[in-house]
Amino acid sequence: MQTGFFHDERSFWHGGGNYALTLPVGGFVQPGGGLPESPETKRRLVNLLRVSGLMAQIDAGSAPEASYADLNRVHPASYLDVFKATSDAGGGELGLRTPFMKGGYELAALSAGLAVQALSQVMTGRYRNSYSLSRPPGHHALPDFPNGFCLINNIAVAIRAAQAAGQGQRFAVVDWDVHHGNGTEAVFLDDPDVLTISLHQEHNYPLETGDVDIRGAQNSNINIPLPPGTGQVSYLEAWDKIVAPALARHQPDGIIIACGYDAGICDPIAQMVLGVESYQLLTQRAMQAADALCEGRLMVTHEGGYSEAYVPFCGHAVLSEMSGSKISVPDPLAQNLRTRQPKSRWIAHTSEYLDELVRYFGF
Ligand SMILES: [Zn+2]
Repeated sequence: MQTGFFHDERSFWHGGGNYALTLPVGGFVQPGGGLPESPETKRRLVNLLRVSGLMAQIDAGSAPEASYADLNRVHPASYLDVFKATSDAGGGELGLRTPFMKGGYELAALSAGLAVQALSQVMTGRYRNSYSLSRPPGHHALPDFPNGFCLINNIAVAIRAAQAAGQGQRFAVVDWDVHHGNGTEAVFLDDPDVLTISLHQEHNYPLETGDVDIRGAQNSNINIPLPPGTGQVSYLEAWDKIVAPALARHQPDGIIIACGYDAGICDPIAQMVLGVESYQLLTQRAMQAADALCEGRLMVTHEGGYSEAYVPFCGHAVLSEMSGSKISVPDPLAQNLRTRQPKSRWIAHTSEYLDELVRYFGF
């Protein structure tokens, strides 16, 4: 069975707002550059897959927009209707740093539709695993409040659609985007069927969420805040000590990765030290967990990651691993990645902290 890859050029046409990085333009902030959620981070991944030849080894295609009923399982009509009306009228902004242009509603529904199909076609056995190149991203989107560049919670819509179609009931979401998956946490906080785990840089975005004491129904939410500067060894240790046992305890029908690349070494809005090899090794672990627990059913959804130059290399490594391909491209920052990893003393400190979390979570 192949790897499915769901993408659509139109999703790269989403945009809007007057920002410079994340700063609203005005006063002394010179216009230009726009939000860091640039289509080029994702379009260049598609281009790299074509240039390397990996695209020919995966099954790539688009998907229909998620239906209103699909969206409405997660987002109330009060939000969807205002979103659609504002989008039809020329666009605007309904939350925090999440602008959209005319037609933004349809593009957000398309982004969710890619995730719906990616999950559905894994759960029904069409693909061994799948990747949804969703844009705009989704993991910050609360049911009635868009934020952090996210308008519709793509993963939540996909899970609810799969549940409604009888394709599975128990799911686990592992969010390794560098920011806290506050939207996904909020959607499933009272639902013990869906385990949500977020590894994130502590108090980056959102500032006020992501603490360890938010546990959810039957302890089905796990937050793993990590200090700025965390590198590959500690991320893998966090997976092995906390994520792996949590997944085993949950016994999911399918595993979903909220795959942000903003823990990458040169991301402009975060301060972690991961690279191509790190994402490859994390993907290996996700696949091992899926093989052990749910016959390999794994869906990966693209979330953040703001280095236009570097994100494509990390995404390529994830897809190469998922598809079992021998095609890989060298990491242009391999040397930087090695030299900038935290020193052993910091790794030891983080290890002690992770052991504290292990005791706190009861593994
Ligand atoms: Zn992020």
